[in-house]
Amino acid sequence: MLNLTATDVRMNVQATNKDEALSLLAKILSEDGLATADYLAGLQAREAQTSTYLGQGIAIPHGTPESRSCVQQTGVRLVHFADGVVWNDDGERAYLLVGICAKSDEHLSILRQLTRTLGDDVADDIKNAKTPEQIITIINGDKAHGKTSFVVHENLLKTEVVANDIDELYGVAVNVLKNQGKITGVVGIRPAFVQLSSHLGCVTLEHDELVAEPALALVVAKKALAWQDKTVQALAVIADNRHTDKQALAGVYDVLLNDEFNAKLTALSVGELAEWLGAERAVHWQSASVVLLNAHGLHARPATALSELAKGATGELKVAVDNGAYVSAKSLTKLLSLGATRGQSLTFIAEPNTDATEYLPKLIQAVQDGLGEEVTPISHSQASNQKSGKENHEPAPVLDLTGNTVITKGERTHATSASAGLAHGEAFVVRQVRFDYPVQGGDKASEWASLQQAIGAVKDELKVIVQTAKKASIAQIFTAHVALLDDEEVTHGAKDGIDDGLSAAAAWHAHIEQLAKTQASLANRLLAERAADLRDVGQKVLAKLTGQVVATEPDEPYVLIKEDLLPSDVARLDPARVAGILTAVGGASSHSAIVARALGIPAIVGAGKGVLDINDGEQVLIDGGQGWFVVAPTDEMVAVAKAEQASWAERKRLASETALNPAITQDGHQVEIAVNLGNVHDTKMAVENGAEAVGLLRTELVFMSHQSVPDIDTQVADYTQVFDALDGRPLVVRTLDVGGDKPLPYLPMPFEDNPFLGVRGIRLTLRQPALLENQLIALIKASKGRDLRIMFPMIGRLEEWHDAKAILDKVLTDHPHDKLQVGMMIEVPSAAVMADVFASEVDFFSIGTNDLTQYALAIDRGHATLSKDADGLHPSVLRLIQNTVANAHAHGKWVGVCGELAGDERAIPILVGLGVDELSMSTGSIALTKAVVRELNFTDCQYLAKKALACTSAGEVRALTTAKES
Ligand code: PEP
Ligand code: MG
Repeated sequence: MLNLTATDVRMNVQATNKDEALSLLAKILSEDGLATADYLAGLQAREAQTSTYLGQGIAIPHGTPESRSCVQQTGVRLVHFADGVVWNDDGERAYLLVGICAKSDEHLSILRQLTRTLGDDVADDIKNAKTPEQIITIINGDKAHGKTSFVVHENLLKTEVVANDIDELYGVAVNVLKNQGKITGVVGIRPAFVQLSSHLGCVTLEHDELVAEPALALVVAKKALAWQDKTVQALAVIADNRHTDKQALAGVYDVLLNDEFNAKLTALSVGELAEWLGAERAVHWQSASVVLLNAHGLHARPATALSELAKGATGELKVAVDNGAYVSAKSLTKLLSLGATRGQSLTFIAEPNTDATEYLPKLIQAVQDGLGEEVTPISHSQASNQKSGKENHEPAPVLDLTGNTVITKGERTHATSASAGLAHGEAFVVRQVRFDYPVQGGDKASEWASLQQAIGAVKDELKVIVQTAKKASIAQIFTAHVALLDDEEVTHGAKDGIDDGLSAAAAWHAHIEQLAKTQASLANRLLAERAADLRDVGQKVLAKLTGQVVATEPDEPYVLIKEDLLPSDVARLDPARVAGILTAVGGASSHSAIVARALGIPAIVGAGKGVLDINDGEQVLIDGGQGWFVVAPTDEMVAVAKAEQASWAERKRLASETALNPAITQDGHQVEIAVNLGNVHDTKMAVENGAEAVGLLRTELVFMSHQSVPDIDTQVADYTQVFDALDGRPLVVRTLDVGGDKPLPYLPMPFEDNPFLGVRGIRLTLRQPALLENQLIALIKASKGRDLRIMFPMIGRLEEWHDAKAILDKVLTDHPHDKLQVGMMIEVPSAAVMADVFASEVDFFSIGTNDLTQYALAIDRGHATLSKDADGLHPSVLRLIQNTVANAHAHGKWVGVCGELAGDERAIPILVGLGVDELSMSTGSIALTKAVVRELNFTDCQYLAKKALACTSAGEVRALTTAKES
């Protein structure tokens, strides 16, 4: 720490340029007896050699070695320029000069100290500082808390790395850091390289969440790699966060910048590198590798055999797949998590000086013998595939622990109903495309030209799609794809690969994969999903380059079969051509299911990987409401289905004729039918389709339609559209429900291991009260006294309700509203269980069955394989609903259901029977739900609900009620 006092700092000094600032500094140094007036010439000479601007608004002027004779006393003076002074040719402004008077090299230790400050992102603090004390606090790095460290370890150093370009080398370094647990991922496109010497480049990964432990990875390639107009053979990647021990890091830099080290660098062994860097040395574990032969990979049975064998050793045994991270070979779950597939190499390592080393040959033998399963050796063609010069893009077989769905032709196979309706058509299975192309390129100029040509041709095709798209959402998606192909980062990145001798296709594929992987590793799910777009355009260009035809959709309406669907996949579907959707994974409340419902496309999800083996062109019949499908149905089945489809269409038509009538049961019990909206423009259409209210306005989706947080006026304009279209009908607005799987791109959130259990919903807005206050003000202003109902999402504890209510009460003092109801979502089981307590304080409850089910059953609603079991008709969820309704009614309060269950035809009689007062759903379900309610008898529903509460599984409940939708 620098030993500074307030008298060493001068605040609010003014200078119009750098020369003037240096003169003022020299004057201060001289007045304080640190240097003679001639020191100014030394300061100026130093700046003429190179600017002393450090970053973060700090410059460190100091004299040249020749001017040391002017130094009378070693010391430092800090000069603060509130308006800043332009300090270098890039126009960067220095707000703080750390003027150094040093008789020898003391400025180096000051520099180290300041690198700590620089890591703290203090530019604004420095600029806005008002007192010497504030400056001293910042400079001493007191902003950083906690223990600091910086790991330099032999196992983070690699030599002889095979890499074709600098990005590959970077990828190796990132993997080294990941495998050793130093980072959990990387953010965005790779940070800029800084060249430290003629051999060595450096990249800093700075992130407080993704960097688990600050560390250095140093990777040395086998050959020099082209980088811009230079070459680089080694790369230092520094994982940096606020806990970095800057002193240790400065020590590492000293080595990395050392001329002698750099002269030898490319010839040094890992041990020698470790010695230079003073790295911790690895204890060498004996290792042995073997190829896995089991047809279905290391699934539960062989993994159990392996872990049982490994447990015999008292010493540690670890295993890794290919070059991945090591996990304990004794842990079944860890072994399964490896996802090892046939043909991959398992490397075992044994703890030194223990009996574990004796187990290595036993483990190798056991794997070779098939771990209890019959195995066949890998054929020569399979083994030589990688060496053939053709890339093998066959997707790796996926370890399926739940077992595949057995599909028998002509018979019904059941899966999760996601969107009601019948569909019949040819199967169109979207599989990963396999492209064949040579890895080595020919003439570089023509490889580059053919890549440009392919990109241009794809762009032209995309532009046609944009122009002819009937839906704005589709046009937006493909406009974004055109923009990707206009981005030089995307298009020119492949040039390095071509320059290194790769073919255009190989260079393009490697580059797009690298970009997509980086993108996919983002903590923000929305941004991570954009990796799919990169791969999408990447494939289109690859198809053009290789002349391969990517399977085109059948002309007739078809059944789309895919592993899973992203919301963006569904959004770009043309409902006129896609008769139905069948996916291998996913659940009813996954976003893709919600979008499929919104588009009115019948869909079944979570049907197992077996659906991907259905042949293209095979006839498929699906019943999205009942949740079954038939491959190769008989003519009779199709005829029956078509008849049912006709009657289903007729039912829908009839229902739509009476959509504007109320939903009153045969015995006179009325249920309010409302709409869920995520888009303010859809309100009018919902009202025309029978919506009696908006039961849930998902305002986070409204926020997502803006590029940045909408201000009060923008929000007022949005909400006014809804109020106007509602024409006096009530509006239930949910305050911002960000987090979980709904991050807001412009509201950066720290990485969380369990975002659904983290800062989401009310937990987030209570931490950003201004956001909530502005939203409440905008709502009240937009309502102009009309029927407004505000509810808070994700309330789990009474304190949260009180805190949210206090913010609203504060807003209401300045913006009163006398027609306002205030309620809360019931999405967290604790709130449902304590509904008696909450009921005495709220005006209403709205039950979010999507989250309530997820939390009650502990199943991630978006989980690829589990979410099909997150059924809101599970008796546990029904009991929570029953408790909520009973307590609300006891206090004279009303209850709505706004989760997906509200529009589920089989759930409607049960929810009505439980006494739910309002059902809120997507526009497409309103007319039919109203028709269903009109056919019901409330007393029968109450009896049915009782029976459902006594059931022991969701299946039993569903069996009580038969859907009539198809
Ligand atoms: C719910 O959880 O049921 C709900 C309606 O909220 P969302 O689906 O937006 O999380
Ligand atoms: Mg919810």
